[in-house]
Amino acid sequence: MKTLKLDAINDYENAVNIASEILVSGGIVAVPTETVYGLAASAFSDDAIRSVFTAKGRPQDNPLIVHIASTSMLGDIAKDIPEVAYECAKAFWPGPFTMVLPKGDKIADSVSGGLQTVAVRFPSEKTICDIIIKSGLPLAAPSANTSGKPSPTSASHVIDDLDGKIDAVVIGGDCAVGVESTVVSLIGESPRLLRPGAVTPQQLRKVLPNLVIDDAVLEQLKDGQTAASPGMKYKHYAPRTNAILVEGCSNSFVKFVNEKTDCAAICFEEEYYNILVPKISYGSKRDEFTLAQKVFSVLRDIDDLGVKEVYIHAPSKDGVGLAVYNRLIRACGFNVVTL
Ligand code: AMP
Ligand code: MG
Repeated sequence: MKTLKLDAINDYENAVNIASEILVSGGIVAVPTETVYGLAASAFSDDAIRSVFTAKGRPQDNPLIVHIASTSMLGDIAKDIPEVAYECAKAFWPGPFTMVLPKGDKIADSVSGGLQTVAVRFPSEKTICDIIIKSGLPLAAPSANTSGKPSPTSASHVIDDLDGKIDAVVIGGDCAVGVESTVVSLIGESPRLLRPGAVTPQQLRKVLPNLVIDDAVLEQLKDGQTAASPGMKYKHYAPRTNAILVEGCSNSFVKFVNEKTDCAAICFEEEYYNILVPKISYGSKRDEFTLAQKVFSVLRDIDDLGVKEVYIHAPSKDGVGLAVYNRLIRACGFNVVTL
């Protein structure tokens, strides 16, 4: 299949119009959002959703997030919506926040991977919202990468993974947030954080004071344990190079990597000039927003370094740092060294 490249930077209207037409006729299109690029399909079409799973090589039981362009669309996606969902919508939408609710009857079963629930988000990025409005469709969209690889934060990442496998890619700029949305389940006794993102636990607790952080956010699931968020059980974001997450202060990290051979370091800007092995900085340790923006792109660059092992300096788990830590610990297969 030839993948159409739609230039939303120089010809925005045309890109939005063509992308919408393709989606209405059952095709699949990669589109930028503020978190990462998504691979969109009509949330009403089982066939289109199936093509998304095939293009990504995504396990069928890993459900997709449905994207809407106004809170008023929520009634088409979910049912038995609790009042607290509207409080969350008011506080965090549009933005990088997803809630899990009972699934509405119109949504294709394949969207939810067999669950009776549905994840829904109203993004703040204009391009995807305009495509939702123009097509008149809620769009189910997982990250537009090959399953298991780091999520795509630029159109070139999407093209590297999916060129020839999808109908079109809308080429916009790099993603402003850089990590996928915060996912909170509003099913069950207490609201539960399933995946950390740019909306932090501190912000969530202002609306959801009894928020519980799911074990899968920071820990590996034990054998036989079921994942509240199926995506959390899969190996994810991993480079081919053996990656190890390292916890400790800057001085000890620098000393640790400088004593190693045949390795590279993913470090903070503050450490860069003191590190003697091949290295990539992913931003200042004090700026978790930049760390989030750059983490996936850096994970994609690791394999070009041509080394046996890569040591990644772990960020703090505060604020958006928790989301960055969550992605890195998966990229490292839960392989952590504490100095
Ligand atoms: P991605 O599409 O790559 O952003 O991944 C979507 C994430 O949301 C995955 O971790 C899914 O497991 C999770 N998710 C989507 N729908 C649901 C749902 N109904 N219940 C729980 N988690 C969900
Ligand atoms: Mg993904």
